[in-house]
Amino acid sequence: MERVIYLDNSATTKPFADICAEVGKVAGNAFGNPSSLHEKGVEAEKIVKWSRETVAGSLGASSGEVFFTSGGTESNNIAILGVVKANARRLGTIVTTCIEHASVFTVFSQLEKNGCSTAYLPADSRGVINLDALVGLLKSRPVSLVSIMHANNEVGTLQPIDEVIELKRKFGFILHVDAVQSYCKLKLDRICKSANLVSVSGHKIHALKGTGALYIKKGTRIEPLYYGGGQEGRIKPGTENATGIWSLGRAVELNLSGKYGDFGRVRELKNCLVERIIEEVPGAKLNGTLDSSQSAPHIANISFDRIPGEVLLHALEQRGVFVSTGSACSSKKKTLSHVLTAMGVGDSRAKSSVRFSLSLDNTSEDIEYCLGAVKESVKSLSGLK
Ligand code: PLP
Repeated sequence: MERVIYLDNSATTKPFADICAEVGKVAGNAFGNPSSLHEKGVEAEKIVKWSRETVAGSLGASSGEVFFTSGGTESNNIAILGVVKANARRLGTIVTTCIEHASVFTVFSQLEKNGCSTAYLPADSRGVINLDALVGLLKSRPVSLVSIMHANNEVGTLQPIDEVIELKRKFGFILHVDAVQSYCKLKLDRICKSANLVSVSGHKIHALKGTGALYIKKGTRIEPLYYGGGQEGRIKPGTENATGIWSLGRAVELNLSGKYGDFGRVRELKNCLVERIIEEVPGAKLNGTLDSSQSAPHIANISFDRIPGEVLLHALEQRGVFVSTGSACSSKKKTLSHVLTAMGVGDSRAKSSVRFSLSLDNTSEDIEYCLGAVKESVKSLSGLK
């Protein structure tokens, strides 16, 4: 294969070159158990402390509010199940949206099976949730928890978290925000100031896999899901993965330093790719929006007229371009994307959708090459229809 253009960064990112270069040394030096009292333990503990301060700084939080986890899925589970457990005796309705990642919506469906009162907010054709539906719920019944994603992982739409925060002030509920797709791409300080819980993941920001964090605002009532030692404020007991935790802090530092560029440039590349595909590929339609106030800088979802997404994905792969159909966790399932369905996208358009997700690694040459590959693939596949 001549060239590799990786455009599946919502599924996962490649660790930064600095992280790949430094990780062996960190793993060799910081192998101690951070709870051990001797020098080796202290070395590992120092790394965990540094990373916690770095992640906290990036969120405008204090380091006592950052708890390391194994990733976004675990952060979301601990947040939702932990709040439900802590408030079990007087739990009102728990609310989420129809467009959440599986690590939120399957938790909700499980809780629903166990007898919790749940509600799911609908989304419009751009993938933005309906706030009136939330207001209606808040006026009609006690709501204990609202869990809303910041940037949608399939179509990139941003949710109106500021408005949800206003409603939290007015009605009072615990707010959890899944910020896995927006962390280090958009500023989260304002969200952390008001939300109770915010989930982030390392492998989406060029850190190692198996790393993540949960921001828990001081004073939020939450119960642990697992029991063991007292690590991570008892929220995530078990010996810390000091090397992984280091990689998360280092990735945050590198993202924010601008060493690998910035997401303003990534947004320009994404917009250029989308606009040219829509203009130059007959029948191509954007699922979502390019409005910068309502979309993440790196995700675009496009349907190609009657060409199955999976077929186009493999045609692009043959040309060295790596994309995905929907989210990585659900793309192996044969069912239609629940996100596109919630947006009212018809079955045939949903089946022909492909997600392009960029990162700081991408260049304008990548976009030009990808456009050529899309045009060539669509042309050859259209001949087969
Ligand atoms: N939340 C969102 C919005 C995601 O996109 C993902 C992963 O794709 C997750 C949660 C789960 O994160 P992780 O893969 O770190 O468990």
